[in-house]
Amino acid sequence: MENNFNIPLHISEKAKSELEKLLKGNRNFVNGTPTAKNMCLETLKKYAFHQEPYAVVLTCSDSRVVPEIIFDCGIGELFVVRVAGMTTGANVVESIEYAVKKLNVPVCILLGHDDCGVMKYAKENYPEPKQEFSSILKCVYPVLDKKEDITCHNFFAQEHTKWVEDYLMKHSVIINEAVKNQKLFIAKCHFDHSTGLVNLI
Ligand SMILES: [Zn+2]
Repeated sequence: MENNFNIPLHISEKAKSELEKLLKGNRNFVNGTPTAKNMCLETLKKYAFHQEPYAVVLTCSDSRVVPEIIFDCGIGELFVVRVAGMTTGANVVESIEYAVKKLNVPVCILLGHDDCGVMKYAKENYPEPKQEFSSILKCVYPVLDKKEDITCHNFFAQEHTKWVEDYLMKHSVIINEAVKNQKLFIAKCHFDHSTGLVNLI
């Protein structure tokens, strides 16, 4: 670990450069100097019949967490999977698998965030899930099962991000093998609302 963003040195050059590009883009967002120009019809036409994103992003549906904006990206760059609480399930796993196997993305960003409503709701309704939102809650309870005394929702979200990585590694042969063969790097990240910064955790 000896670069500005604490990107691990052992990952592939491809993953490193794409991840660095995204984290630099995030700094553009934070500094109010976004550079993305590829948000126009011309770009869409260029990619009308194919796509070549360089990262898959799994994050929350939260309206404040918009990957293309916070990473200073445009059309065709990110393959985004958004679901409340960055929770997982078969469709989510297969969406990521598609990006890895068919689109050959070298980076998978798991992006948790501050003030996540799902973490708050889970904490309020632990350990008995209400009938509503039960499948979402069951995805975040494993963290509380281990650390019931968590009081900080933002810390809870970061622990959940680590749990999601474990889940993907255990439930997907495609993802597991890609990681082991250094074709994919899973970057666990957290989005800080007060600063706008995305940092690796
Ligand atoms: Zn959220």
